[in-house]
Amino acid sequence: MSKMNVIEPTRLDLGTKFRFRCHKGIKCFTKCCSNIDIMLTPYDIIRMKNKLGLSSEEFLEKYTFSTVDEESSHPYAYLKMDKDEKKSCPFVKAPDGCTIYTDRPVSCRYYPIGQATLKKQKDDSVVHEEFYFFVKEKHCLGYNEDTEWTVESWRDDQEANLYDDMNRGWKSILMRRNLPGQKELDPNKQEQFYIASYDLDRFRRYVFDSKFLDVFDINTEENEKIKSDEIALMKFGFRYLKYLFMMEKSLKIKPEAIGTKK
Ligand code: SF4
Ligand code: SF4
Repeated sequence: MSKMNVIEPTRLDLGTKFRFRCHKGIKCFTKCCSNIDIMLTPYDIIRMKNKLGLSSEEFLEKYTFSTVDEESSHPYAYLKMDKDEKKSCPFVKAPDGCTIYTDRPVSCRYYPIGQATLKKQKDDSVVHEEFYFFVKEKHCLGYNEDTEWTVESWRDDQEANLYDDMNRGWKSILMRRNLPGQKELDPNKQEQFYIASYDLDRFRRYVFDSKFLDVFDINTEENEKIKSDEIALMKFGFRYLKYLFMMEKSLKIKPEAIGTKK
């Protein structure tokens, strides 16, 4: 996770075995929680903001910064480290470690495993293949312990599988630059990406307090669901982005709005 990461080139699968244990009594406890680049996912933000009792806007303002990824042109949100000498994560506190442990981000859950997604052509369709790798840092002594895992049992234990399920629709948007005809996002689309991905309270206002529902054909049941359930709203945001980026016809325009689409 840190800038000093040592990423092992070996590709792991769900059945790969390894030994590891992280616990409060270990000498390196919390050493991995400073000077880190933690890119946040939409579901990370929902869990963290709710844990802290903040709106998405308050959470983003206080705990994150965003930067536009040069290769994809997507603006991503990162956890902002404190300004102390160690550049500590704002949530790490002595003596207990992570103060938001039950709602920590997915990359903290995976650690010391890293996860990545590859796009592959299979027969006539495109499939996304997830794979894993070890992140080995000198200070991390967990590899010297003797608890045995497979990548799969580690993911289950850390609840990373739930996070992956929640974020899967979003991750498929991140692969869009591999699709033919996908250009860099202009500033307006970058803003839409940021709002729909991270700032759910603002996205909710965009859907319900603008002309959005005059333009898009959303049935009553879905309308009620996205109004009251933020996971449903998050997933609707992924569909909206796929429509906006012309990756899928994932939303329908109302016939009466077609003439006024612009
Ligand atoms: S969120 Fe928690 S686990 Fe992740 S770096 Fe911060 S303190 Fe450590
Ligand atoms: S064992 Fe590794 S993951 Fe656990 S506290 Fe130490 S450095 Fe962090």
